[in-house]
Amino acid sequence: MMVYVSVRGRIWLQAEAANMVESVGNYVKHRRVPVIVKEGGNYITFFVPSISGESIAHAYQAILAEELKKLNEKVCPLCEKGIFLKSTNAEVYKLVTKSEPPEKTKKEHTTPEKEIEEKIVVNCGVEDLGGFLYAEKPNVKRTSSFFTGYMIPVKEALKAVSIDPQLHSRYALGTKFVAVGEGERAAGQMIYYVEVSSAVFTFAFDLDTRFIGKHTFHMDSYGKIVEGLTQNNIKNRATAALNALQRLLVEFPIGAKRTRFNPADLRWESIAIAVSNDVFTLPSSFTQDYMLRGLQKKAKVSFNTMIFGYSEEECKADKCYTTPEEAIIEALKEAKGRI
Ligand SMILES: [Zn+2]
Repeated sequence: MMVYVSVRGRIWLQAEAANMVESVGNYVKHRRVPVIVKEGGNYITFFVPSISGESIAHAYQAILAEELKKLNEKVCPLCEKGIFLKSTNAEVYKLVTKSEPPEKTKKEHTTPEKEIEEKIVVNCGVEDLGGFLYAEKPNVKRTSSFFTGYMIPVKEALKAVSIDPQLHSRYALGTKFVAVGEGERAAGQMIYYVEVSSAVFTFAFDLDTRFIGKHTFHMDSYGKIVEGLTQNNIKNRATAALNALQRLLVEFPIGAKRTRFNPADLRWESIAIAVSNDVFTLPSSFTQDYMLRGLQKKAKVSFNTMIFGYSEEECKADKCYTTPEEAIIEALKEAKGRI
């Protein structure tokens, strides 16, 4: 049985530096994206702070690796350390699968794609779920089973959002480590700037368990369970994916610089989680009416869909809870019951 989980939410992040893109000298820039909105018949573009989908995917896969291992599912030596090279070339492939790539062996291969797909999927649950790209001959690609994207300030916040560079210094004058030699000047103070922003951000994450442990690349094997995995492995991997999603939403360990720029406020303003037996995505939380639109969509399209919600304002869902944690945990309990 497959289960599809769709999450949309709005989350407060105050004084965050979660996704930095480049440093120019001692100046570290926050990621920005253009966002266009319609106002009074005109279109206006804003450049706003954002957090990339890659950043969210990194945090999710790091937790996923841990959850897979708890259930004794295989994770490769790189993914388990948060290094997501994902079988990108022959050298990485050897480390992941503990075998030579088919093109390097003397065996006659009519279907090297099948073998490559099979070996990687069997040997690494993170790459099974999160996809990979084997960029050798032949190319073998696996699409991720989870979907996410840029977090941007919600529509009502666009005009109010700003990014500000904050001055910091590391001071070490007076210690022997910056003692000056002859003709040298003291350099005991290092100043640097970090751009911080504050906003209510959108959040989106969808998880489709349909292809876990199954071929999706080799055409003749499409949809078949890869050799070397059992139904039990697939169930474990789906459970690990849901456990990881729960931890991601409850703890929200997304973004860098969390040791010194941990957001001053990190709080779900609202969240909705739809659990379905087939593909059902919730509408974007960029606009405030997303919970209502979710219910309206469900009235027209439903795959035994159940929407769990929480809102600091008005919650619109099949089941509303008084805390975001309750909504998240109850939704994922329902999802786990369906696999
Ligand atoms: Zn891996």
